[in-house]
Amino acid sequence: MTMKTALITGITGQDGSYLAECLLGEGYRVYGIVRRTSTPNTGRISHILDQISLINADLLDQSSLIKALELAHPDEIYNLGAQSFVPASWDEPTLTGEFTAMGVTRILEAMRQVCPGAHFYQASSSEMFGKVMEVPQTETTPLYPRSPYGVAKVYGHWITINYRESYDLFACSGILFNHESPRRGFEFVTRKITSNVAKIKSGCLDHLEIGNLSSKRDWGYAGDYVKAMHLMLNQEKPDDYVIATGETHEVREFCDIAFDIAGYKLSWEGDGLNEKGIDRRTGKVLVSVNKQWYRPAEVDLLIGNSQKARTALGWKPSVDFHQLVEMMVENDLREEAHIAL
Ligand code: NDP
Ligand code: GDP
Repeated sequence: MTMKTALITGITGQDGSYLAECLLGEGYRVYGIVRRTSTPNTGRISHILDQISLINADLLDQSSLIKALELAHPDEIYNLGAQSFVPASWDEPTLTGEFTAMGVTRILEAMRQVCPGAHFYQASSSEMFGKVMEVPQTETTPLYPRSPYGVAKVYGHWITINYRESYDLFACSGILFNHESPRRGFEFVTRKITSNVAKIKSGCLDHLEIGNLSSKRDWGYAGDYVKAMHLMLNQEKPDDYVIATGETHEVREFCDIAFDIAGYKLSWEGDGLNEKGIDRRTGKVLVSVNKQWYRPAEVDLLIGNSQKARTALGWKPSVDFHQLVEMMVENDLREEAHIAL
């Protein structure tokens, strides 16, 4: 059997690094697109750098994408590159649109011109459901995004479907709910909690400052979710799939478990902006709320129904919520101990 080739945009990100590992494990030749930076940002893929090929290109630059596809001749293209942090999308709304929305058209257009027979994956998001129109959300739930990021992802989702229908391309959109890991960016709430718990434990930080403790998310493990991307591109026909655990948890609950794993028992006092997480043993404040981390508009109850993917792809998550928090806290405790040495 001939070796298959995959090209990943966003290979330096959380999902890109897990997907590259997954595809190498399946025997693929893996190319990754990286944009020029003044300092190296390949930390998440440093352990596989000798097994993959990196190409300089940018989702903002059409000709660079065409050249990348001409060089790689991929059988599969995974478009994971994006401005992916929701709060930053209010700070930089037009740039977010350029990366996260127009970038999808650019890579689809490059594929149409260079390798129309390739299979294409678009990283769509549960943030497209925003002010949710039904609970739980499925592939047919109407979209109502609540941030410039969510709006850009709706564009990316629909242009993928449009290119599939207009040009008969094998293009799939994976509507993924939040997924985390020890490689999650530090600004996302899960990694912010686990990295700060580790700093508190080592004595480098006094307490964690957080935003809306009552926010709820359907959180899964990134290592499980990249497998679904690969499965989608290896079906008879292109289609769109929701990938989720089907469980939702509050930020407060994430804090409870994370602190518990590090040896603290929290009790909660006050409410809203005055709510505090107190160490039951010492009475010390370990969590306080800061309005700075609240958002101009929040999404509602995000909870996904991934029945279609479970039936058609045979996909299911292998890591549950508690195991996910444990994996992240233990990683950050280890990293913090290493820094302290
Ligand atoms: P990350 O933020 O960890 O990674 C984003 C990647 O996109 C990085 O490699 C980044 O490169 C790259 N990138 C950003 N701008 C450009 C550009 N102009 N040209 C080329 N590459 C660019 O995100 P995740 O890995 O968590 O997510 C992967 C994708 O899945 C994203 O599209 C995200 O929006 C989407 N998604 C993620 C979810 C999650 O919970 N993680 C949920 C649903 C969807 P650099 O290192 O140079 O910054
Ligand atoms: P998102 O779902 O992609 O926006 O992922 P995040 O991890 O950034 O945010 C998840 C939820 O956590 C949102 O509802 C935030 O409002 C909430 N949240 C509460 N405190 C914080 C915080 O300090 N930082 C972040 N990033 N989110 C927070």
